[in-house]
Amino acid sequence: MKTKKEKNPYILSLKESRAIQKSNLAEMKKFEKAKRKKVTPDYFTTQLKDENNILEVENLHTYFFTDSGVSKAVNGITFSVPKNAIVGLVGESGCGKSVTSLSIMQLVQAPQGQVVEGSIRFATRDFVLDGKNKRIPIYAKDENGDTVYGNKLDKKGNVVLDKDGNPVQVPVQARSEDGIPLYEMKEVTYDIAKMPTEDMHRIRGKDISMIFQEPMTSLNPVFTVGYQIEEVVYLINPTATKKEAHEKAIEMLSRVGIPMPETIVNYYPHQLSGGMRQRVMIAIALVGNPRLIIADEPTTALDVTIQSQILHLIKDVQKQCKASVVLITHDLGVVAETCDYVVVMYAGKIVEKGTVFEIFDNPLHPYTKGIQKAKPTFDTGVDAELYSIPGVVPNPINIPNECLFKDRCGERCSCCEGEYPEEIQVSPTHSVFCHKYKK
Ligand code: SF4
Repeated sequence: MKTKKEKNPYILSLKESRAIQKSNLAEMKKFEKAKRKKVTPDYFTTQLKDENNILEVENLHTYFFTDSGVSKAVNGITFSVPKNAIVGLVGESGCGKSVTSLSIMQLVQAPQGQVVEGSIRFATRDFVLDGKNKRIPIYAKDENGDTVYGNKLDKKGNVVLDKDGNPVQVPVQARSEDGIPLYEMKEVTYDIAKMPTEDMHRIRGKDISMIFQEPMTSLNPVFTVGYQIEEVVYLINPTATKKEAHEKAIEMLSRVGIPMPETIVNYYPHQLSGGMRQRVMIAIALVGNPRLIIADEPTTALDVTIQSQILHLIKDVQKQCKASVVLITHDLGVVAETCDYVVVMYAGKIVEKGTVFEIFDNPLHPYTKGIQKAKPTFDTGVDAELYSIPGVVPNPINIPNECLFKDRCGERCSCCEGEYPEEIQVSPTHSVFCHKYKK
């Protein structure tokens, strides 16, 4: 007798697929509508929990509404980045590291990708506005503290004359060392998860910037590297002249150690080596003197000798700019060499976090121990088989509320059943999400 064929759980029927698409569309519309809502700065102004931090990510959920279901790429993570520190975000491919960084930059691919819950508190600077919502300029003062006056210029740079033929005198706006006109600024903390895109433009590229993974695909092949740096100069200083922007591009190239910057500024990306292209990416990220630099696997596309140079450069610029860095990598060697703090992610969640010494000297979570064991050392014999964690990362669609590492864990015991483990604080800076450490 013919038996009814069992349904393959990995294949969706047309009906199921349509139902998912319909519900996704409704969800995406809801989030997109909320983004377009007119809000006042009070709506996204917040306070840091600890004034020593520059960034606090709390209970962040970033989902992708795909035709196969909702993919929970980042599923409730909480971590902070202290001022002047380098925090490493580690984990294997697909664990949510890059989606976390894109969420911080508000660059998640919408409408499918949405930050659905949580907050991203960032301590930034913003313009003080007058009653007419206009920026308040700071005027230059002479040695006696009196305002300096100069000729008023029209849009073409010509001196404006009054009806008697005399030049019209106006207060001269003060400029920074980089030639940027100065306005009254205030220290403020914004919740990036709530910020409208228009407001985010004021801090992205200026106070937060990003170094992308693959410079060859991140740089535009049809423009010179100088042009691409100048674009950011105009973003930071819309009043910059062509000459000023070009000089700034040369200065930035020389700051990241590119030889003959006056020549290289006119090169196209394909004329540069991988290491030089990555230096150009770092130069672009540094134009605005950012407070936070997110480096998303900045050395993955480079060979080992160049990797070390780029890591040293990132460390140097972090010290020079007094910035904080979130370094995303799957390479524990890079973390050990560069970072102050480490956050270990697995399947969209954090499994362990602590200082670099705590994570390397006393790893607690079986996953952290696994990735450390998977790293070859000088003692690893030439013929020895390299260790790899058995099994695969769970499917981020329909993720269960339980320990997500349990199918791959060699330390699994009866205490591991039940809901996702709570955060267990081992020291003021070290915590782990594992049932084994429950008291
Ligand atoms: S909770 Fe249990 S299964 Fe999960 S990582 Fe800890 S020991 Fe392994």
